[in-house]
Amino acid sequence: MNAIISCARTGHFRTLQIAHLQRIQYTRGEPSSLIMFKLQDKTCIVTGAGSGIGAAIAQVFARAGAFVCVTDRDDAAGNHTVESIQREGGKAGYLTLDVTQVSQCESVVNQVEKNHSTLDILVNNAGIGHVGTIEKTSPEDLERLWAVNVKGVFNVTQAGISGMIRRQSGVIINIASIGGLIGIHDRLAYCTTKFAVVGLTKCLALDHAKQGIRVNCICPGRVHTAFVDARLKEYSDPQKAYAEMSATQPIGRMGRPEEIAHAALYLASDEAALITGAALAADGGWSAG
Ligand code: NAD
Repeated sequence: MNAIISCARTGHFRTLQIAHLQRIQYTRGEPSSLIMFKLQDKTCIVTGAGSGIGAAIAQVFARAGAFVCVTDRDDAAGNHTVESIQREGGKAGYLTLDVTQVSQCESVVNQVEKNHSTLDILVNNAGIGHVGTIEKTSPEDLERLWAVNVKGVFNVTQAGISGMIRRQSGVIINIASIGGLIGIHDRLAYCTTKFAVVGLTKCLALDHAKQGIRVNCICPGRVHTAFVDARLKEYSDPQKAYAEMSATQPIGRMGRPEEIAHAALYLASDEAALITGAALAADGGWSAG
């Protein structure tokens, strides 16, 4: 792989091989800033990692060198993610976790801290959706979404943050949504919960910045996962709905789970040391206007 480098003295551009650049850095005894976004020897928990965005985050974090505790309420799906990570030579294990259950959240964090001594990175990804205006949203619908999308993030974070405070170090990444930054037609309950996730993220970031804990959220636009497939089935014409959903994004397509995982990798890495309290839109330009 090549990189185009501009010389600070002459302003001339040169194309150099990345490997050559790394050799130059090693020779100068400088830290290897070219090997970026590594999570070597970090321990992470990813919730809802049996499918879609969570599975992609688990896979990408394992490729970056982390041990990933894959969690989900769906054991078969979670174990499937672990198997695919291990097939690639990555490090991962599975624990059942329904994020609505406080005792399970505490037990998962305790097990990870007991077996790996630290929890370095927590990714609150588990989430559920709903289509409907206020006329088509029952109080039970709102409570169901609130329990997973907001209280779930609260529960796992509350279980995980005390160890991070003790160690004065940690990274929390919440998967919110573009529906946490702008309103979306027909998504009353979903947007309500995702706006709350953005607020929760910003408060956590402020409260724990001095304790070495960074808290950010990612706001994906449409990403083609089982979650989207389930939403599509709620429409009378799923094909038309698919085309309309893609059209909301200026880039003209839905995102891929790996694209959200790469944003998460950046936020989890030491290279993002200055970033806390951010709501990073990964939406193909949807929220730009
Ligand atoms: P998905 O349905 O493919 O995966 C969600 C996973 O969460 C599943 O494995 C499911 O078993 C798990 N889960 C659900 N409820 C749970 C609970 N109570 N406890 C533990 N696990 C639970 O969904 P996805 O598209 O990968 O979405 C992941 C996250 O990204 C969600 O928070 C979602 O709101 C958000 N998001 C998705 C999109 C998109 O277009 N796919 C866009 C914006 C935000």
